[in-house]
Amino acid sequence: MSGKRDKPSGRVPNRQLLRQTTGLFKAHRLGVATIAFLVVITAGAGVVNPVLIKVVFDTALFPTKTVGGKPVTLPPVVPLLELLVGIMIGITIVTGAIGVLQTYVTNRVGQRVMEELRNRLYEHLQGMSLRFFTGTRTGEIQSRLTNDVGGIQSVVTDTATSLLSNVVTLLSTLVAMLFLSWQLTVLSLAITPLFVFYTYRAGRVRRQITMQAQESKAEISAITEETLSVSGMLLAKVFGRGPEEVTRFRKENHRLANLAIRQEMIGRALFAVIGAFFSSAPALVYLIAGFVISSNHGHPSPITAGTIVAFTTLQSRLFFPIGSMLSVSIEIQASLALFERIFDYLKMPHDIVDRPDARVVAANDIKGDVRLKQVFFRYDRGSYGPMSEPIVRPAAAPIPNGHAPDESDPVPNEIRRDWALEDVSFDVKPGQLAAIVGPSGAGKTTISYLIPRLYDVTKGAVLLDGIDVRDYTIASLAGAISMVTQETYLFHASVRRNLTYAKPDATQEELEAAARAAFIHDRIVALDEGYDTLVGERGYRMSGGEKQRLAIARVVLKAPRVLILDEATSALDTTSERLVQAALEPLLTGRTTIAIAHRLSTILAADVIFVIDRGRLLEQGTHAELLRRGGAYAKVYEQQFQGGRVEAVCEDGMVLASGEVVAATPAAPAA
Ligand code: ADP
Repeated sequence: MSGKRDKPSGRVPNRQLLRQTTGLFKAHRLGVATIAFLVVITAGAGVVNPVLIKVVFDTALFPTKTVGGKPVTLPPVVPLLELLVGIMIGITIVTGAIGVLQTYVTNRVGQRVMEELRNRLYEHLQGMSLRFFTGTRTGEIQSRLTNDVGGIQSVVTDTATSLLSNVVTLLSTLVAMLFLSWQLTVLSLAITPLFVFYTYRAGRVRRQITMQAQESKAEISAITEETLSVSGMLLAKVFGRGPEEVTRFRKENHRLANLAIRQEMIGRALFAVIGAFFSSAPALVYLIAGFVISSNHGHPSPITAGTIVAFTTLQSRLFFPIGSMLSVSIEIQASLALFERIFDYLKMPHDIVDRPDARVVAANDIKGDVRLKQVFFRYDRGSYGPMSEPIVRPAAAPIPNGHAPDESDPVPNEIRRDWALEDVSFDVKPGQLAAIVGPSGAGKTTISYLIPRLYDVTKGAVLLDGIDVRDYTIASLAGAISMVTQETYLFHASVRRNLTYAKPDATQEELEAAARAAFIHDRIVALDEGYDTLVGERGYRMSGGEKQRLAIARVVLKAPRVLILDEATSALDTTSERLVQAALEPLLTGRTTIAIAHRLSTILAADVIFVIDRGRLLEQGTHAELLRRGGAYAKVYEQQFQGGRVEAVCEDGMVLASGEVVAATPAAPAA
């Protein structure tokens, strides 16, 4: 969704986002608690060794005794030294082992959360209506599912734990420091605000850049998806647009590279500042320690050599957590930006869902009466989809059914009008074949989308067996209604899998019967591996006619009560055309069929023809009735079929097509 671009990025994440994010971890309370426990132990144990350093220096290595008011250094106390060193090594080994355990638990929780998030996102997207997919690019969706969910992995596995670890380290270190020397602690704390300010600023910039980089990645993946697919490539080659596509890609790729450089540089600059603090802080400790000791004028000072060594060691434990806590906050902010992109999708409402009391009806119990009752439909932008505003034409006087459109009305179909469908009412009786005809953009496809609820009507109702389709469950509708679309979509999978998609438990006999009915069985068994042959991406290795017949076989398997057929406009060669037609014929019998008809044979065979123009139903009736009326249909018929394209239904029901007019005034089915 390019609309997202306009959104001001870099703003402070809101409470709701934080709540949603933490909500993801609710199911893993025990894991999170275990992680917290382990982190507290390792971070707390880290302060023991520096404190022991002071004891090692002042008590074991260089023990002193005051003789006559003057400190005298004694030889090292070896047994104590051995014990202390043993403890120090032991602590290191134990904390190391706990660290490994902690990493395991953290990754487990992290990966489970990601898995859950990917599942939820995919499931949510499955439930989105067609409206969403027509308004959003596939690449963009894929990017959110993979790049964005992948991008938050680090926050889940590393960042959150390091945040806790840093807090514990910081607190324990502060306590130890105060215990060693309050003067040196004040010094260390005094220089931190500078550091905090700088890292905070860097964090904000980095969050913005991450957001932009993620958008750029999505853009690139959309471009790749659009242009490196078979159809996109075909289009680019045919129109010679390859170079422009390369330019478009280069431009976005350049933007991404620049963003990556900026992102890296901000990180690096931050690192340099942290480095400077690390090196200069011990030097300042020596200086201040010198002042404190010399101001004591020879009296024993609270700051010993052991204190200084222990303190400088502790100091790195102070800056490190502060530094990394600030960079953690950068990471968290960046990840929240990713979470935001994911939740944006999860938040999108499903606009076509089951009503609470929706009916579950078995496909066999549907008779197949399809009615449109004063249907108005508008493609609006809904809650997603950057669609352009429709051009609103002044309300025209309603055209009564059965009359040709006003010739003076200059608005062509291609121009967006107020309604895609306007006050359309018709009735198709169970078992009838209805043909919808009309110019391109008239609203034929839109009608076909409304019946299986791919879209919901804006006003009016679509009824199946007298009941509003919105009162059935979506699954019931899907069981009863099927579509054969112009563009046949085949998975990159075996013929078998493509067919059984309609009926997963179909037996081989059923498969073959369906394939035979669709005149494709012989072709399939002639393939190298028969029903197990892979068809290429989108079935490109099959010819247009074969793909259509495969799609028909798929529907034969499903045996829906209501069939919506969008006849392919692309002309097939005569033989293919005849085969497709022959495959279709048995499919249409015994079920209600609503065909967006482009073939004369279908139109002639129809029990009722609906003539649609500019979103309105102009005429309805049989071929003979409509011809007699001499209205819009008669005109279209004359223009499209009389002169040139030629098909007819022979007496035996087989389609003939030849170079000349076969059916000038064909016998229409009795009205
Ligand atoms: P037909 O199938 O008769 O060629 P359609 O039903 O596809 O016509 O289109 C009817 C009208 O709706 C056209 O003006 C078309 O531009 C518009 N339209 C179709 N699909 C969409 C969409 N997804 N978003 C917005 N307008 C659309």
